[in-house]
Amino acid sequence: MSKYLIAGNWKMNLLQNEAIKLIEDINFGISSLNLSSVEVLVCPPYTDLHIANEKLINSPIQLGAQNMHFMTKGAYTGEISPAMVIDAGCKYVILGHSERRQYFKEDNEILIKKLKSAFDANINPILCIGETLKERELKETTNVLFNQISILNLFEKENLEKLTIAYEPIWAIGTGINATKEQIEEVHLWINNFVYSHFGLNIKILYGGSMNATNAEEILSTENVSGGLIGGASLKSEQFLSIIQTAISLSQ
Ligand code: PEP
Repeated sequence: MSKYLIAGNWKMNLLQNEAIKLIEDINFGISSLNLSSVEVLVCPPYTDLHIANEKLINSPIQLGAQNMHFMTKGAYTGEISPAMVIDAGCKYVILGHSERRQYFKEDNEILIKKLKSAFDANINPILCIGETLKERELKETTNVLFNQISILNLFEKENLEKLTIAYEPIWAIGTGINATKEQIEEVHLWINNFVYSHFGLNIKILYGGSMNATNAEEILSTENVSGGLIGGASLKSEQFLSIIQTAISLSQ
């Protein structure tokens, strides 16, 4: 298992030409890097996936989707199935991002079905969990995370081996205010302990929330942080490449 996973969540950004340019720039930038200890993933919008997959032939960069439906096919207008995600070249899918929880009412019931579909289809899910600022201020962080992570109890260890968790405090997403090293350390230890004590597994735990080229070293060097889920900074090739470079340096 590589030491770090650096994942870019492009959200609802970049038309096809812009996506091609970004992929080409990242591809060019990493061509001189040693990626033996760092896995790189980009998660473009659905409409950019096929062209991104074409551009990533012979590239070590992996492709992921930002969401998918849990049904395999049928009358679900506007939705994308696990098979479609695979057909577009994806090895990963982000599930339960706070924007989906907030704007599209994704809850545990839906996420259980999506996780099951991802495991059945052999897609590696990245399950996002995180608290609001109010919840943190009310000292509810652990309760909120417990509620979100407890759905894992419904799955077998052999499936959970394919899971990555992203701790994304909602108040840090897109705000320019990242969680402190101490806050990240505390939560990542808690998540690590939960997963290890319940399933005997050490899985990757990413941090997400205003991570950029400047704070990457401090965040990625924190104990139990095995990578980053990066929004805004993943849309700028220099920033994303700098974070990848930081991960490479830290893993040496
Ligand atoms: C995200 O949306 O997953 C994220 C972490 O965004 P940002 O890096 O822009 O805070």
